[in-house]
Amino acid sequence: MFSKILIANRGEIALRVIRACQEMGIASVAVHSTADSDAMHVRMADEAICIGPPSSTESYLSVPAIISACEISGAEAIHPGYGFLSENAAFVQIVEDHDLKFIGPSAKHIRLMGDKITAKDTMKALGVPCVPGSDGGVPDFETAQKVAAEVGFPVIIKATAGGGGRGMKLARSAEDLETAFRTARAEGKSNFGNDEVYIERYLGTPRHIEVQVFGDGQGRAVHLGERDCSLQRRHQKVFEEAPGPNIDAATRARIGKVCADAMANIGYSGAGTIEFLYENGEFFFIEMNTRLQVEHPITEAIFGVDLVREQIRVAAGLPMSFQQDDLKVNGHAIEVRLNAERLPNFAPCPGLVNTFHAPGGLGVRVDSALYGGYRIPPYYDSLIGKLIVHGRDRPEALARLRRALGELIIDGVDTTLPLFFALLEQEAVQTGEYNIHWLEKFLAEKL
Ligand code: ADP
Repeated sequence: MFSKILIANRGEIALRVIRACQEMGIASVAVHSTADSDAMHVRMADEAICIGPPSSTESYLSVPAIISACEISGAEAIHPGYGFLSENAAFVQIVEDHDLKFIGPSAKHIRLMGDKITAKDTMKALGVPCVPGSDGGVPDFETAQKVAAEVGFPVIIKATAGGGGRGMKLARSAEDLETAFRTARAEGKSNFGNDEVYIERYLGTPRHIEVQVFGDGQGRAVHLGERDCSLQRRHQKVFEEAPGPNIDAATRARIGKVCADAMANIGYSGAGTIEFLYENGEFFFIEMNTRLQVEHPITEAIFGVDLVREQIRVAAGLPMSFQQDDLKVNGHAIEVRLNAERLPNFAPCPGLVNTFHAPGGLGVRVDSALYGGYRIPPYYDSLIGKLIVHGRDRPEALARLRRALGELIIDGVDTTLPLFFALLEQEAVQTGEYNIHWLEKFLAEKL
């Protein structure tokens, strides 16, 4: 086992990793920008090293600074958290070239899934169901016309290097196609330096269902069920639950096995998430994230596992501590994302937090780097915390969420807290009958 791990991240996810390290008896090293000198992760880690100015590109994304911090502190492994360098294959290569261990999948697998066309081709070959569409890249508009006619409108044009909802354009009919094709290409080029695009059938009212997978890198892999993350605003998840409200045990076992087998087949190592659109009882693969996700705690809650501990174990060459048969769904969990944002426009709202009071009690978990007197810096993501509740069933989880939201106090900055009170009043949320468009519609009409 490692004796010291460096966490190349900040905020709640840095705390999450530090906590796992503490429980495993591993020393932790925090890195931080000058804007984060007072941050909670700096206070909680055993050591802290300043790696640069506020701008992420010069600090949390600075590979030389992070590698130097490892060498100075004597850390043997790096946990990347999510975002920043977590899905950067070149970084993984550099880490390995310095005889350090990256806590995550291999550079090869990150690269494979980072390009959406290769990811889809790979998944298709592994028997994972995909959205019908072009066979790989679409080189020119003439080909786009041919493919779209075959697939049938509406279609979505996607940049192979796209992410975060960028580089994706909808064409409702043949008239929209040329503009959609050219804008998707241009966005791919300007945002990600790659203008390759592909075409998919556009699904009208799907749910976003993602399967948590875990591999040991030796050809063994398991799944930990699904999460429903359909409640999204601008492709950003807002409210997540596990298990999916309309996924039964047989469906879970079937799609889970397809995913676990695919991961075993490629020798995947560590945590990963295979994302699907789910419509009329059918799953359609859209992308794979080769890292720990923000919403991993709801899976931890219903399976009673520690995914970060497991990541660290596998990176250290130990076997997984569970097998498929050990993994049983227990109850229902919901996570809501607390962002420092002002409603109704979700404008970022950094600043001084006067008071922070976290809810407690049975089945309540708060992952947050806030404390009273902390000043949220304006340079980073607006996620300031996650409230996770676990109940014996969905109604209990909803009741617990309402109760916990009532106890939570964040005074000084605006947050997305009021949104969740409003959501809990909605019938679609109470019944779980929503799709990926529901939240946007609700926000446009009601907020
Ligand atoms: P990104 O990497 O930018 O997040 P994804 O491929 O994961 O892109 O898609 C993001 C979101 O876009 C999905 O969650 C879904 O809301 C929508 N989307 C993607 N593909 C389709 C499709 N074929 N039909 C309908 N909606 C889609």
